[in-house]
Amino acid sequence: MAFNLTRRRFLQSASLAAVSIPLSKVVSAETGFTQSPLEAKGSLNEETVSGGICEMCFWRCQLIGKKREGRLIKLEGNPKSIDNGVSICARGNAGIKLLYDPDRLKYPLKNVGERGKPVWKRISWDEALAECSSRLKGVVDKYGPQGISVFPHGSTAKYPMHFFERTVGTHNVSEASFFQCRGIRDTAYLATIGKAPGEKVDMANSKAIFLLGSHIGENIHVSHVKNFAKGLQNGAKLIVVDPRYSAAAAKSDIWIKIKPGTDTAFLLAVMNYLVKNNKYDAEFVEEYGDGFEEFTEGIKDWSLEKAAIECDITPDEIKQVAEMLAVNAPNVSIHPGRHVSWYGNDFQRQRSLACLTGLLGAYYVKGGWVPGKTPKVGKVSWAKHEHDTEHNLNYDEDEEMRHPFTPPGTPTELIRDAALTGKPYPIKGCVIWGQNPIQTIPGQEKMKDVLRQMDFVMCVDVMPTDATMYADILLPEVSYLERHDLVKTGTQWDFSEKHQQYIAARLPLVEPMFERKDQVFITNAIATGLGHKDEIPVKSVEELVEKTLEVAGLSLKQITQEGGIHLQDGKDPYGVPEDFEVLFYNEDIEDAGFPGVPTYIPIDQPPAGYARLLYGRVPVHTFNRTQNNAWLHYAMPENPVWINDETAVKLGLKDGDVVGLVNSEGFKSRTTTTLKVTPGIRKDSVYMAHGYGSVNPLLSVAVNAGVDDQSLITKIAVDPETGAHGMRNNFVKLIKDGKVLDIPA
Ligand code: SF4
Repeated sequence: MAFNLTRRRFLQSASLAAVSIPLSKVVSAETGFTQSPLEAKGSLNEETVSGGICEMCFWRCQLIGKKREGRLIKLEGNPKSIDNGVSICARGNAGIKLLYDPDRLKYPLKNVGERGKPVWKRISWDEALAECSSRLKGVVDKYGPQGISVFPHGSTAKYPMHFFERTVGTHNVSEASFFQCRGIRDTAYLATIGKAPGEKVDMANSKAIFLLGSHIGENIHVSHVKNFAKGLQNGAKLIVVDPRYSAAAAKSDIWIKIKPGTDTAFLLAVMNYLVKNNKYDAEFVEEYGDGFEEFTEGIKDWSLEKAAIECDITPDEIKQVAEMLAVNAPNVSIHPGRHVSWYGNDFQRQRSLACLTGLLGAYYVKGGWVPGKTPKVGKVSWAKHEHDTEHNLNYDEDEEMRHPFTPPGTPTELIRDAALTGKPYPIKGCVIWGQNPIQTIPGQEKMKDVLRQMDFVMCVDVMPTDATMYADILLPEVSYLERHDLVKTGTQWDFSEKHQQYIAARLPLVEPMFERKDQVFITNAIATGLGHKDEIPVKSVEELVEKTLEVAGLSLKQITQEGGIHLQDGKDPYGVPEDFEVLFYNEDIEDAGFPGVPTYIPIDQPPAGYARLLYGRVPVHTFNRTQNNAWLHYAMPENPVWINDETAVKLGLKDGDVVGLVNSEGFKSRTTTTLKVTPGIRKDSVYMAHGYGSVNPLLSVAVNAGVDDQSLITKIAVDPETGAHGMRNNFVKLIKDGKVLDIPA
């Protein structure tokens, strides 16, 4: 079936409209971002407060708020922002509903029932903090600091994470943003160009944009989407490699419907074609490349034909991509991706992307990978005690690193295995701060067992989650709209405009309600209880921000007077630094026992009767904190399962049918959802949005809404170089009316 969605129609509708939702009916034709109906009529005349920074996702768009009688009634982009400007996305808009969500945590709670089946009793902060301190101290005294594990997420988790890691002295800290998301990308690029890449591609000024599984337009980050849309409006060619017809694929010049897990084979063939046909940037490679001979030797067998068989596409499709990139080089954006924990063979794929960028000479040039030059601010850190590697689970008995290219922290699976076996030592204390490890980490039942065997579990969060059901003590945190917080720095997103930099501090837009507290208050109290009072670096979150700003010659007072954003002249971001290098071959990787030249490692394919479970994001729902949001839920109350239209016909299924899922390890979805029948997905795969189907009854909106994809991600695959999880190695069948349906080959 052909797709009848042109690029023009997309720009006017699909992706950008996707950042708005029905809650705001007026969508600017120019930007696609939302204005309120009242604002559009010019009838809103309220107090305006500025200096907010959104945290409905991690992008941290700068905000202003409209207040009526002290109550926040609307959020908008800060007109002073050179990042998101006046635009915010649907989730950003709906931050109001998070702030006033009646299901939010309000008071410290003690679980007087079981872990997983909690019975909550309201207690005082003094009682809660005393219990957290004494129980954590008990773990440290009995098992050593390594007996504590920490699962942090988000900006408020940094301060406590550093306390437990640096001062208490546990290595067992595992951030979801590293080990289930972007850590592989960062370490692969570090091993290739010496820098973590972020999503710093100059798409606005690009001649060709290359997306490998990146769902820009579905996973919305405002300035990033603007950057992307401007590139398309300027006429950039778009190549999308994805098993699914994503919002981005809908605007592509070339969509490669690749077999999942074979991306590295595809990239090797593209690079081999460029080299063999002298279509790479030889001058750039000569000046900045290292190990090019080993590289060309290592990839030389990857013909178009060989890769085409592996990837289940045609040789001509690969050639078309290579030609389109070559003809537009060096002004091409090879997007490094964000959530790249896919198959457990991901480090090599990310290395391939970094090498492809080098082959095209697309570093630090217009339209290429351009990090920009951001202003310096300070960091507040806890005193670091000397910690040997003895208790670092990432070192084996011979003092060799198990995963030598790991992101900071300890791979989650090593922590979980040690906790469950008690070897090499017990892990009996757990601090979960802003993370939901039940719905983030593969192997949900394993995670529950890990939490059940703990002597003590404490959780700090804004909302109840499936993980908070396992807490002994549950502490309510202030939201991003009620607190000061770390500073964000950056540049304008379009480098063709005046070069400018910004420093933005998060300022509270409203006073905290109920008994919610911030991260500095909670951490300092626990630090005092654990005997580290003299090492406390700041007394308040305001002091933390003040110290961060001092390095930039700013103060909290000044940045408040400036409306939360300080602007200053920027620098020309283009031009390759003298010491820049692209390691096409990395000897250190080889010395560590892994391929030094990017290498394709095949993965298991679905057994007969099963399809691979793919998942992704949607514009209205990304993180735990969006799950229970009434406005966002209204926009997308469940997560339909995408299935290929021809497969659906063979199974006698139709769009909107209600289905459940069962995976190849026998795990069934607890709930059902609807079917989306579409030609926009391969026959060997099904797809659904991530983060639905919570079981927590305290979430009156989100409980049992949609299917929890994570409950079906039970196979544990670990990327060998990094220790990060691969999360798309699970195979499922559909269940309709109680009958399990085999997916036809
Ligand atoms: S992209 Fe949306 S959710 Fe993320 S910070 Fe910006 S407005 Fe908030």
